[in-house]
Amino acid sequence: MNQPQSWEARAEEYSLYGFTDMPSVHQRGTVVLTHGEGPYVVDVHGRRYLDANSGLWNMVAGFDHKGLIEAAQAQYARFPGYHSFFGRMSDQTVMLSEKLVEVSPFSTGKVFYTNSGSEANDTMVKILWFLHAQEGKPQKRKILTRWNAYHGVTAVSASMTGKPYNSVFGLPLDGFLHLTCPHYWRFGAAGETEEQFVQRLARELEDTITREGADTIAGFFAEPVMGAGGVIPPAKGYFQAILPILRKHDIPMISDEVICGFGRTGQTWGCQTYDYMPDAIISSKNLTAGFFPMGAVILGGDLAHRVEAAVEAIEEFPHGFTASGHPVGCAIALKAIDVVMNEGLADNVNRLAPRFEDGLKRLAEKENIGEYRGVGFMWALEAVRDKATKTPFEGNLSVSERIANTCTDLGLICRPLGQSVVLCPPFILTEGQMDEMFEKLEQALDKVFAEVA
Ligand SMILES: *Cc1c(COP(=O)(O)O)cnc(C)c1O
Repeated sequence: MNQPQSWEARAEEYSLYGFTDMPSVHQRGTVVLTHGEGPYVVDVHGRRYLDANSGLWNMVAGFDHKGLIEAAQAQYARFPGYHSFFGRMSDQTVMLSEKLVEVSPFSTGKVFYTNSGSEANDTMVKILWFLHAQEGKPQKRKILTRWNAYHGVTAVSASMTGKPYNSVFGLPLDGFLHLTCPHYWRFGAAGETEEQFVQRLARELEDTITREGADTIAGFFAEPVMGAGGVIPPAKGYFQAILPILRKHDIPMISDEVICGFGRTGQTWGCQTYDYMPDAIISSKNLTAGFFPMGAVILGGDLAHRVEAAVEAIEEFPHGFTASGHPVGCAIALKAIDVVMNEGLADNVNRLAPRFEDGLKRLAEKENIGEYRGVGFMWALEAVRDKATKTPFEGNLSVSERIANTCTDLGLICRPLGQSVVLCPPFILTEGQMDEMFEKLEQALDKVFAEVA
């Protein structure tokens, strides 16, 4: 397959791959892509794949949206780049901040821009460290997150991420604490009801705060639905149980909406779908429909006022990226928000979500599917060796990788995550394309389950 001059060979010769199973690449070669059409991507050999992962959750308007391309081209022609330092910023940046506060659940607020979700979480942590120190609590620095959470890859956001693979970097850093993942099907104890499970997690939070001291905890970060942890919606009543505890101890709650934000769960924000009010929101991925690398910290009114006062006291907030608030990124984000909210994309998610769930429910009747879970346009199927005992397949069988690789051979891109397969297609998906997704997935499941039986 890998002739010296092939795209595949050249990719392997010169690229250091991130988050990639290298034995699979050596065996199967790299999928080198040239372009996309709607929810499909096309490789250098002309093969088409239905991308049921929207790239990496982010290409929600598909891969060739005309309006977004035109918005980018027009802004490149008008003002192709600028920063947001020294009291200068582009008009597009002003308009986007205004828009983000308008569509946020906050009545007032302030926005800070980054180039990625990781940097936005990193920035939020620095804002909290700065704020608490200015308010006379320099020791209020610890960060609470959950096991299986994904908050990014910078040294700080990787420390927030609750995944064992970060141990290869000697992470997490000190002061990053991980609480139980709110996945009832997997972590509920024998005989424990979902309500009891949630109460146990609330007690764990209260005990952790008591043990560490509320004055040492800077903030609590959570995704509404855990994305890269395997699409894990919160156990019922989870956020309603933990929010009062955080409030009581004056610990800010930050909703990491990098995946859930802008319609993925059916409403504009995941915190609206799960009915809680955070103190700040982290946005990226869907913010530009994947057409520009950009992240944003959206501070709600109370936090915004406190941070503003802290900044006034020292006259300057010493933080920012060269491309923070990039005018092209902002112009694209303004268009992307309009496209998702006003061109029927969010409506399509809500219209097709029940059909999505029906399809998964049917597949979950298979003997080797333990659970289907999700909301809106983000779902997962979890494979098991034994349905009754929830026993996973032996790790060396790499069942989810085999399912995903078989799907790729059939022209469907989906992602293996642990023992699960993740489906999070672009919001423009049609009924026919959804049927195609389920047909190919079912073929792959049947083939792989027969192989590993
Ligand atoms: C992807 C993701 C991030 C990190 O964003 P990058 O742009 O990859 O740095 C942070 N939080 C969540 C919930 C994510 O899904």
